[in-house]
Amino acid sequence: MFEHLLRDNIRDLIPYSSARSEFKGVAEVLLDANENPFDHAFNRYPDPMQKALKVEIGKYRNIDPANIFLSNGSDGIIEMLVRTFCDPGKDSVSYFTPGFSMYKVAAQLNAASTNVFELDHNFKLDEVAFVENLKDNDKLAFITSPNNPTGNAYSIEQVKYVAKNFKGLVILDEAYVDFSTVASGISLLEAYPNLVVLQTFSKAFGAAGIRLGMAFMHQELVGYLNKVKMPYNISDITQQEAMKVLADPARIEREIKELIVERQRLEKVLPEMTQVVKVYPSDTNFLLAEFVDSTKVYKALLDKGIILRDISRVKGLANCLRVTIGTVEENDKFLKALKEVS
Ligand code: PMP
Repeated sequence: MFEHLLRDNIRDLIPYSSARSEFKGVAEVLLDANENPFDHAFNRYPDPMQKALKVEIGKYRNIDPANIFLSNGSDGIIEMLVRTFCDPGKDSVSYFTPGFSMYKVAAQLNAASTNVFELDHNFKLDEVAFVENLKDNDKLAFITSPNNPTGNAYSIEQVKYVAKNFKGLVILDEAYVDFSTVASGISLLEAYPNLVVLQTFSKAFGAAGIRLGMAFMHQELVGYLNKVKMPYNISDITQQEAMKVLADPARIEREIKELIVERQRLEKVLPEMTQVVKVYPSDTNFLLAEFVDSTKVYKALLDKGIILRDISRVKGLANCLRVTIGTVEENDKFLKALKEVS
């Protein structure tokens, strides 16, 4: 169904076949992969298809493991998608701005061009105009919902409209979906086979350090990415830690709730501060805020060891900083330091 979308050399690629992906059944003696036979914790190569982990992710997200692809952070999946589908010097990637900066980096890395669509001043997405703006050589169209750094989410109806009216792949980046009231696009996958949903262990799951991104998509698309990925792309350490994360869903839920309560507190308190002009509504674990003088605020806080994300040079975000929601104590320190900026 999607073979025509593949980059030419990937269509013809005969992938590396690792010993462990060819092997089925139970082996007693493993003399196939030139490993060290002595029993250290990680002397064996990891499962190249991450089968056990995909089963657990499938249970947690209510999706068939066959529709899951995993890579080194969702950053890694974004880059792989561009590498797999965009012919260098020929194809293009579409995304909106203000938005997540990795789409452009991934396009540039792969010599793909970019087709950038501007959101309106409230960061709303006009999906009809977005689709009209898509070009013949656009292979991928990214929708980030909730969006980074603006913090707002787009509706499932908008995603459906783009998926229905675009002949390429729509990549719905849901890194922050667990903090949002908008439902995940995972439920759309069957009806919209050209949709790819990206999620991550880095935000609500609290495991940015293990570098694990998830992509949910049609099995045929999973097959193409499996062809392109390095043979043992997810380490055993990462797979084991991810299993531990998923074994305690109550912890995940509890932390999401706590962070949302804290976000709501900051949303209320920040506008009362003299330096704050506006706090934008957020469906994420961060707030976008406009300040009277963002450089002054950024530097004053930095002097006190508090780091915010300076995004004031992004078009449409003059004097804006992005603040991640921390623990109660961290947020209190932030508020106290901000109060002290005249
Ligand atoms: N997508 C969005 C919208 C993000 O904000 C981020 C992280 N900043 C990512 C993807 C990448 O996350 P990771 O590589 O940690 O999975």
